[in-house]
Amino acid sequence: MIRSNFSLLHYNTFGIDETAQLFFSFTTINELIEFLTNNFRKDLPFFVLGGGSNVLLTKPFAGTIIHPENTGIDIIEETDTEVFVKVAAGEIWDDFVQWAVEHNLHGVENLSYIPGCVGASPVQNIGAYGAEAKDSIYQVECLSVADVKKRIFNNTECKFGYRDSIFKHDEAGKYIVTHVVFRLLKHAPFNLEYGSLQNIDAATATLQTVRDTIIEIRKSKLPDPKEIGSAGSFFKNPVIPNEQAELLKNTYPNMVTYPAGDGFTKIAAGWLIDSLGLKGFSIGGAQVHPKQALVLTNKGGATSSDVVSLAKHIQQQVLDTYRITISPEVIYL
Ligand SMILES: Cc1cc2nc3c(=O)[nH]c(=O)nc-3n(C[C@H](O)[C@H](O)[C@H](O)COP(=O)(O)OP(=O)(O)OC[C@H]3O[C@@H](n4cnc5c(N)ncnc54)[C@H](O)[C@@H]3O)c2cc1C
Repeated sequence: MIRSNFSLLHYNTFGIDETAQLFFSFTTINELIEFLTNNFRKDLPFFVLGGGSNVLLTKPFAGTIIHPENTGIDIIEETDTEVFVKVAAGEIWDDFVQWAVEHNLHGVENLSYIPGCVGASPVQNIGAYGAEAKDSIYQVECLSVADVKKRIFNNTECKFGYRDSIFKHDEAGKYIVTHVVFRLLKHAPFNLEYGSLQNIDAATATLQTVRDTIIEIRKSKLPDPKEIGSAGSFFKNPVIPNEQAELLKNTYPNMVTYPAGDGFTKIAAGWLIDSLGLKGFSIGGAQVHPKQALVLTNKGGATSSDVVSLAKHIQQQVLDTYRITISPEVIYL
């Protein structure tokens, strides 16, 4: 269905009210093929919007939003040890995780309760609690916008990295992910290394108890987008040369850092923001979450410029104090 001047209020977890010049949603691949062949405005930019949980709408979008609403979770192959499951891009990510858990299939349980749709999972290579989508993705099925042809990327071709893939670089803006095929395991040890998951007893754990624990922890730490608008972690953790990190550590011994390899150190952006006393700080309706400094929220009626101003203020404060540039992880549209 194609609509004009369409409000995206209910299509982004920040709850920002901006419009799209054109909005197209599809429930079948034939609808998508028909649209791209006959109705697609090649003179305008386009953007594929899943659940809008990693985007910040900054202005009316003068182009076409393509929104997958195709559904389906199908077992396409099974061996003694593994099951290949083809999932439509429009499926809610966490519904798929619940499906896997109910079918006793291992691989995605640690990614429970991440907002968004399945189509974004390879693009973002979503990750949490020591697991990443790339560990379970077998192949990604796409339609090429330019020639409306099907293209399949295998796991290696996706060039997965930290919250990163080929779909954000070499192939950015060229493909619409229509399905993702996951390789799930019938038997596998639980991945309970990460933080408070270590409290789970591996001997008695089940996929459902691991999932329930993760959901409980996530709900206690992060604002639930169903209740408070946000896009999760707003900034990336900056990576700086070891020498600069050592100098900073001398002055700020509590600074949270992680080795990033090759002479570089990763700094926890949340620590930087928190150390400046910015938790709870707000501009208009946009607020730094009072409990989680890395998350910017819509405390009610936030406009896109409120969020952009708040983000700029934080970036400037961090730069002035630490001489470190932090950049948004969230995509500005
Ligand atoms: C409270 C909260 C917690 C979060 N926690 C985590 C976390 O623990 N780990 C994590 O990795 N992320 C997390 N996120 C970020 C977010 O959930 C993920 O990035 C998610 O994959 C985004 O999915 P989406 O469908 O909302 O994508 P969108 O935000 O709509 O889009 C994200 C990107 O994917 C592209 N895209 C989406 N669908 C398609 C498609 N079908 N074809 C081609 N491109 C597509 C878009 O063009 C865009 O570039 C969190 C977000 C929130 C709000």
